[in-house]
Amino acid sequence: MLQDIRNQFPILGVEVHGRQLVYFDNAATTQKPLAVIEALDAYYRSGNANIHRGAHHLAAVATEAYEGVRRQVQALIGARHAHEIVFTRGTTESINLVASSFARRYFKGDGDEVIVSGMEHHSNIVPWQLAGATLRPVPFSDDGVLDLEAMERLFNGHTRLVAVCHASNTLGTVNPVADIVALAHAHGVPVLVDGAQAVSHMKVDVQALGCDFYCFSGHKMYGPMGVGVMYGREELLSEMPPYQGGGEMISEVSFERTTYNELPFKFEAGTPSVGDVIGLGKAIEFMQSVGMDALAAQEADLLAYAAERLAALPGIRFFGRAPQKTAVLSFLVGDSHPYDVGTLLDQMGIAVRTGHHCTQPVMDRYGIPGTVRASFAVYNTRAEVDTMVSALERIMPMLQ
Ligand code: PLP
Repeated sequence: MLQDIRNQFPILGVEVHGRQLVYFDNAATTQKPLAVIEALDAYYRSGNANIHRGAHHLAAVATEAYEGVRRQVQALIGARHAHEIVFTRGTTESINLVASSFARRYFKGDGDEVIVSGMEHHSNIVPWQLAGATLRPVPFSDDGVLDLEAMERLFNGHTRLVAVCHASNTLGTVNPVADIVALAHAHGVPVLVDGAQAVSHMKVDVQALGCDFYCFSGHKMYGPMGVGVMYGREELLSEMPPYQGGGEMISEVSFERTTYNELPFKFEAGTPSVGDVIGLGKAIEFMQSVGMDALAAQEADLLAYAAERLAALPGIRFFGRAPQKTAVLSFLVGDSHPYDVGTLLDQMGIAVRTGHHCTQPVMDRYGIPGTVRASFAVYNTRAEVDTMVSALERIMPMLQ
């Protein structure tokens, strides 16, 4: 079963510095299965056309394929309507879209506040600052668990939105989104969820979570780069102004006045990355062929195994030990700089990420410059974990 999955990922056969690649940088981007690679190839060989306005055959086929993926995404995350799914370039653009448009509609300019978790990616911090909000971060424990009682105290008459990650890219913590939504809604405040690190690891149901916005990236879920999703509840989206102006998002344009298209096209200005959206559909099919439960079980096994094996090494310090975690291990080796560890692992063909992982407030929280992060996907194996552990054993004497 696992070998069948691995066979679908040609890149896993690549050698790096003369060694078989061990790819543990999946939180940054996952590798792509053949079905996705071939769909992109087929689209540009025999299906390329601009969508929606064309009278010709290729345009009709491309439009149907593009809109079909919208329905696939709707089903994947349990949205009520397909027109609540907006295609973007990725999580970052999705959050910028909401921040810009939501702020124009709902900010009052009297000291608007957005409650965020203390473990947000910069993509869920900076757009709110650009929109003019004051951020109120929710603290988290040493283990990486959010303090919901502290969160409760942050609500006040200036709170316009809560913006939290479903899963932390640095700590792996899976936040209790349904509880957070219940808390926020009790205060009449909508919730945006950054799902970049969740959609490829667990079943997501936006209606069960109750969230108002849910954002994610195709390239972190086995799909192509350059495509992402912004889900928003119809009631809010229909109230919000367009983010960008241009083709497709309009109904009528004159030099005096423009009226806007209906949802979701109001938020999809210009030519989208049609081939990448089609590739995203294939990525969804790949995840569904494995099954989200099987996928989560495989990753949970790997996380437990890797945590146990690494913990047995001298001087390993973990960051992020929440009971609910995705398959992310952030650690330091003694007092070594994470970059040195990452560079030495790379020499042995092992790809991990080092640094602050675009979560500088998390590093400040622990008083460290960064971590080494090994993040797993469904195609990773225990044998690869063993390879990393052996490599760490070899490099440790060089580091001290
Ligand atoms: N949010 C989280 C939690 C992430 O991990 C990332 C990427 O690492 C992003 C947002 C930004 O995603 P993208 O660069 O695909 O827009």
